[in-house]
This record gives sequence, C-alpha cells and structure tokens, in this order.
Amino acid sequence: MRDAKPRASHFIAGAYAEDEQGDVIEVIYPGSGEKVAQVHSATPEIVEQALTAASSAQTAWSAMLGTERGRILRRAAEIIRERNRELSELETIDTGKPLQETLVADATSAADALEWFGNLAASLRGEHIQLGKDWAYSIREPLGVCVGIGAWNYPTQIAAWKGAPALACGNTMVFKPSEETPLCALKVAEALTEAGAPAGVYNVIQGRGDVGATLVSDPRVAKVSLTGSVPTGKKVYAAAAEGMRHVTMELGGKSPILIFDDADLETAVGGAILGNFYSTGQICSNGTRVFVQKDIKDAFLARLAERLKGITMGDPLDEAVNYGPMVSEAQLKIVLDFIEKGKAEGARLVTGGKRVGRNGWFIEPTVFADVADDMTIAREEIFGPVASILDFDTEEEVLARANATPFGLSAGVFTQDVTRAHRIARAFQAGSCWINTYNLTPVEVSFGGSKLSGVGRENGLAAIEHFSQLKTVYVGMEGVDAPY
Ligand code: NAD
Repeated sequence: MRDAKPRASHFIAGAYAEDEQGDVIEVIYPGSGEKVAQVHSATPEIVEQALTAASSAQTAWSAMLGTERGRILRRAAEIIRERNRELSELETIDTGKPLQETLVADATSAADALEWFGNLAASLRGEHIQLGKDWAYSIREPLGVCVGIGAWNYPTQIAAWKGAPALACGNTMVFKPSEETPLCALKVAEALTEAGAPAGVYNVIQGRGDVGATLVSDPRVAKVSLTGSVPTGKKVYAAAAEGMRHVTMELGGKSPILIFDDADLETAVGGAILGNFYSTGQICSNGTRVFVQKDIKDAFLARLAERLKGITMGDPLDEAVNYGPMVSEAQLKIVLDFIEKGKAEGARLVTGGKRVGRNGWFIEPTVFADVADDMTIAREEIFGPVASILDFDTEEEVLARANATPFGLSAGVFTQDVTRAHRIARAFQAGSCWINTYNLTPVEVSFGGSKLSGVGRENGLAAIEHFSQLKTVYVGMEGVDAPY
C-alpha cells in the first residue's frame, strides 16, 4: 500500500508534533483488517500546547482583514483540490469508504467549505440602527478558541466543515478527530498552513473521549462543535454548559423516507439506495425507515433488490469498487447484532444479512421488509447498510409515524404531487428535508438536526451565526438625562 501517512500524530502551531508518551491508537485499514499506521493520543502536555497555540494566535487572526483570512481559506481550498487523489486515498485508508466515493465526496467537500466561507469572510458585518438622534451599531465578533470534535465517517469533511466557518469568523480551532480515523484532519491543517494560516490558527490533536472531554472543559475554550452520537452529545453539551460555552451538536438520527405511489419508481429506489447504502450506510442523515405506500411495495422491493445486485464489493482502493467495508470490527458487530434483532422481532429479510467471507469488515447490503414501527431496527440508529421498509396507506398516517421518533435530523419524500411534497416537508420534524432526492448536502445549504439530533447548524449562512456573536454599541448624542 502507498505510504500516504501524515508525518506525526498532532499538528500544533503550524508544525507536526509528537509525544510518544501518549497511548498508541492503531489505524486499521478496514478493507483488509491490517494495521497501516499508528498515532499517539495527546498527553496533557500536547493538549496544553494546542490550547496555548490557539489562544495565542486568536487575537492577531481576528484582527486581520476578512479579505486576507478569506484569501488564505480559498488558497487552502485550491491546495486540497490539487491533492484530491492523495487525500481521497488517505480518506479511503482511514475509513474504508470506496475511492470511487472519496474522490468526489470528501476532500472536494472540504475544499467547497473552505472556498465558500473564504468568500464570505470579507462580508461579515454588523448593522447600524438609528434611534432618533442617538444611534447604535453592532459588531460581529469571533467567539475565541473553538474546539471541533469529529466522528469517523467523514473525517476530512468534518474537519473542514467546522474549521472553515470558525476561521472565516476570526476564531482559532483545536480539532480532535475520531480515534477511528485520525489521519485526514492533519492534512487539512497542513493545507491551511501552506496556504498561509498563521501558526496556531488550526491545530489537530489525537485522542479518545477523554481528550475530547479535557478540551471541552478548558476555560480558554469559547465554543464546542461536536459531530457524534446522541449519548456523546449529551455529555459534551452538559460539560460545555458548565462554562456557558457555545455549542453545535451534529448528532445521530433515524430518518424517514416517504415514498408515495405516484413517485417516479427509479428515482425513489435511487433515493433509498443513496439514503441507506452510500458509505456502507455510515451516514448520520440516512433515511433508514423507508415508508412505501402499500400498492407499490412489491414493485419497489423487487426493483431495490435488483439494483443492489449492481454493487461491486472489494478493496475500497480499487476504483471499480462502489461498496466498501464497515469502518471497524466493533461497528461490524454492532450492525450484525441489529440484524439478528430484526430477524428475532419478526422482520422479513429480503436480501443480505451476513458478514462477507473475506478479510476486512465487510457486510452485505441488507433490506428488511414488513418492519413494524416498534421493532428495534425501526427505532434505533444502526449506522450500517440496513434498510427497513415499512408499509403505509395514507399521508396523515405516514406523517404521524415518520415524526414519532426522538430524533429529527433528516427526512425525505418522493411524490409527483407538488402540493403534497411541500405540505409534507413543512410537517416533517427534521432539520434537513429532501423532495425527490436524498442526502445532498452542499455547503451553501445549512445542515443540522432538531429534537435529539442536534443543536445549531453547519454550512450555509447559519454557520456564521454559530461561530460569531454580536456586540452592540449604543451611542448617546445628546447628553445624559438622569432622574436625580
Ligand atoms: P461518538 O459519539 O462515539 O464519538 C464522536 C467523537 O466524540 C469522537 O471523536 C470521540 O472521541 C468523541 N468523544 C467521545 N466521548 C467524548 C466526551 N465525553 N467528551 C468529548 N468528546 C468525546 O460517535 P462516532 O461513533 O464517532 O460517530 C457516529 C455517530 O456520529 C453516529 O451517531 C452518527 O449519526 C453521528 N454523526 C452525525 C453527523 C451529523 O452531522 N449530524 C455526521 C456524522 C456522524
């Protein structure tokens, strides 16, 4: 295998850093189960160095013109685009997602975020408010040092989706990737530094939950942006509250896709495929509860099973492969357990259901039909390639069932009836909804969850609100009229 590894575990104050006293975190290539690299978890000294670097750099970074900050972000976007193949290969090694996917979905998405927020940096501003002869104005200010904590499914993208708006607003960042996928964020830090980001503006340190927890409770930290599971989100939100820190929580989901009998069948099947099997099902916004109107259920299931035969499973670094393994053996076991529960609770296995007999953490794409709302596979996030198909009769009924979940990340509807499509989008209890498509998340559009799926939004103009704050200044023009 080509050696695309970063040079050390951490990236602090503009350079790679190492402290071999930190626990070893092994990097296993999910396509073979082989160890391909290792990093060291951050020791207290490394955590201190990173937070000191980020705090020291923040004042000067925020004092730079937005135009200059933006230029650096856009240059980093160009560097990342030039290195797309190398970064995509690293993303594939880290996550096991097929190179066919990573070439178009990961470094490219990171570059889009850096470019888009880079373009915005010069336009950030407050407002002027006339109050008779007095007046007031507002100043949009950065929050300070921000901590980013990533999940393992999109390590390059998450590092940039958090870093780009944070830096555009004049904040600095300490980013901790998931311990499952520690490599890619280091390359984002490298690109930013080569693009001219001053030392300390964007730092990456490795570690498990304990390192994340240390960062979240440090008094120098003004904001925490987490991508992870709901249980971790609850802990991080609570810890951040101690210091009244700002938070963005991008958490899990159990999102519905509603397919009406007037939908274009191929489009709907395509949406269900994207919403359940892309990235081997390891996507937070996946539509894993697929509600299909009863009279098209058989046709839908037949076409879905047929199209899943088009999957090419194999070494994810082979560009002909379009379906990879799970990220880790642990995640593979979690998914197999859910499949057993699905069978035990009476769901009908249409296709898949088994581990694949080859090295690496491969599992067949799995479809259950006749799933009932109260089954475990219809209630809990699986985070693997397991689609649950549920039947429905009426719009009113399916909407109530779709919303009957504590999660609220995403939702989709497939129908040719334009009025119904918008009526349903309006009624969905979810942060990101799609009509006649699924799982498209361009940087221009804000993304995030409601209910247990999260707080705050990434991407779009909304992200600026979550990485900056307004200071208001009231200007008295006529002397002070005090009562005594
Ligand atoms: P996880 O919750 O196990 O870990 C997420 C991150 O939090 C890791 O970096 C981990 O080290 C860190 N962490 C764990 N405990 C911590 C603590 N007490 N304090 C601070 N940090 C801590 O999640 P995961 O298994 O890496 O990722 C899968 C989950 O992420 C799924 O639930 C998925 O839905 C969710 N996810 C959400 C989005 C989104 O945008 N909404 C995107 C991708 C993944």
